[in-house]
Amino acid sequence: MDLKKTIREIEDFPKPGINFKDITTLLSNADAFRYSVDAIIKDLKEKDVDLIVGPEARGFLMGTPVAYGLGVGFIPIRKPGKLPGEIESYEYGLEYGTDTLEIHKDSIKKGQRVAIVDDLLATGGTVEAATKLIEKLGGEVVSIQFLIELEFLNGRDKLSKYDVNSLIKY
Ligand code: AMP
Repeated sequence: MDLKKTIREIEDFPKPGINFKDITTLLSNADAFRYSVDAIIKDLKEKDVDLIVGPEARGFLMGTPVAYGLGVGFIPIRKPGKLPGEIESYEYGLEYGTDTLEIHKDSIKKGQRVAIVDDLLATGGTVEAATKLIEKLGGEVVSIQFLIELEFLNGRDKLSKYDVNSLIKY
């Protein structure tokens, strides 16, 4: 299936120079949505995953159906101040300034096998931060799955010690 055809590209969003990959058109296409979720599930099936972790917000959209399909739990990673329980946080550098991500401290047990699912790999900063949070809690990152990879940004370099898979490459 040609998934690229189901993704809408919007120039200069959210700022000039960015070609935004809009996945809402893939999600609203029943065949494309099912095909993508099933492809990620197929890749993860043999990896003996205990949990799926998805970063806010589009990681929720792809991560939860994958978790449901695999029959495992889903753990959200969120922007600061959104999770109500005790949290672990990780601050990481952006081009200008920093960003922070949070996870519930009790969400992953030592030794659990975790797969991260997100919509898009750009610079890799977000998912690298997710790996740090998971590892701080004692989880093992056994796979990282993206719907889209922007290969020209070389985000994979930051994730070189992990199993990384993407369905659509630009
Ligand atoms: P990064 O941390 O640089 O890998 O990118 C983090 C997140 O930013 C991705 O998971 C996307 O949700 C979003 N993002 C970055 N670049 C784009 C783009 N060109 N189109 C759509 N979303 C993007």
